[in-house]
Amino acid sequence: MSYDQIEVPADGEKITVDEETGELSVPDNPIIPIIHGDGIGTDVGPAAQKVLDAAAEATGRSVSWMRVYAGASARDKYDENLPVDTVSAIRDHRVAIKGPLTTPVGAGFRSLNVALRKKLDLYANVRPTYHLDGVPSPVKNPAAMDMVTFRENTEDVYAGIEWEAGTDEVQKVKEFVEEEMGHDDVIHDGPVGIGIKPITEFGTKRLVREAIEYAIENDRDSVTLVHKGNIMKFTEGAFRDWGYELAEEEFGDVTITEDELWEEYDGEKPEDKIVVKDRIADNMLQQLLTRTADYDVIATMNLNGDYMSDAAGAQIGGLGIAPGANFGEGLCLAEPVHGSAPKYAGEDKVNPTAMILSGRLMFEYMGWKDAGKLIRDAVEKTISEGDVTYDLHRQIEGGNKLATSEYAEKVVENIHELA
Ligand code: NAP
Repeated sequence: MSYDQIEVPADGEKITVDEETGELSVPDNPIIPIIHGDGIGTDVGPAAQKVLDAAAEATGRSVSWMRVYAGASARDKYDENLPVDTVSAIRDHRVAIKGPLTTPVGAGFRSLNVALRKKLDLYANVRPTYHLDGVPSPVKNPAAMDMVTFRENTEDVYAGIEWEAGTDEVQKVKEFVEEEMGHDDVIHDGPVGIGIKPITEFGTKRLVREAIEYAIENDRDSVTLVHKGNIMKFTEGAFRDWGYELAEEEFGDVTITEDELWEEYDGEKPEDKIVVKDRIADNMLQQLLTRTADYDVIATMNLNGDYMSDAAGAQIGGLGIAPGANFGEGLCLAEPVHGSAPKYAGEDKVNPTAMILSGRLMFEYMGWKDAGKLIRDAVEKTISEGDVTYDLHRQIEGGNKLATSEYAEKVVENIHELA
């Protein structure tokens, strides 16, 4: 495989996928593309790489990193935001990890994160939120949170179908909505921007399928469909209906609804069943705080999922801790939940845990569960011994305030100790 712009590492082998079974074949020395990213990406990227290398080596493997570029680093090198080679390299190598990429608000280019997810059809953004011992939290019982959010990644108001105020296009859409569709009393006079919110049966069902399969494989108790279907009946309401339909059609033998739980089992969940329930999004945001332990696997649309997983992340220590990964057919692109926090860029200050734990998700997808567990245990040991970056240090009494790179070194030391 050769690329015009990217250097392929001399050693290392490609991860491949069996086209028929969809199973990954992972060598002990895979080539993994990595985008360090913008802003604090230049701090957390190299720090995470060191920790992932240590965990791979401690379990008898090695990673051949392949640096690929997007955002500011790609503009510097190639004068473009998202080179074709970057997208091809991720697609060809099946598994990759990225740091955050900056998106200008209002004017300027569209989100490169959204573009990458769309180009690679990475339809499920998975964000686990669980509490690590020693991590300070603003809530009384952070350990009650052990949730995995499946956020649909390709549809919703994020799809990028929108028109700017003052353009001919927006005028055309306005006239269509008013004159042909009869909504002539909704849009106020004067400049207007208009966006479209597509939610398809296909997009909904493949996301909910992933969430239920994950719940089955990981012995989870429930899958909650989060929507605002009381107001947006034909988009978010349809998401709820298609979600239940999928559960019944494809997983009818292992799932029950909340009504069935009460009517047939008197509220006592049978061990071999998963409860599929739904919650309205605004209620869900407060239930995350008041009834945290009732929620397990969440399946939701793009915008709800973005809000919810940041809020859930705050309960278990904040954005410095919260990992994520995007999945498509035979593809995984791991990335932390946080953004590029430009004010801290290059200061060797921020917390690399979110990027490190995103790497853990990537290793688990590759079947490297032992390396993943080692990473989690080493991060937990580091934090519970009081070795933390500024964000956690300001929330605890005592402790050692470490730079990004020093913290990563501590985690590596703990990997060696625990291995
Ligand atoms: P942000 O970069 O996530 O930063 C918001 C705040 O969260 C920071 O000021 C900091 O809070 C805390 N934080 C974030 N990462 C941290 C870390 N690793 N360690 C410790 N604290 C951390 O959000 P933003 O300021 O809204 O967005 C900045 C840019 O990132 C925007 O261009 C946005 O579009 C982009 N973004 C990219 C992605 C992505 O690449 N997937 C995701 C979200 C946002 P304190 O200052 O309180 O310490």
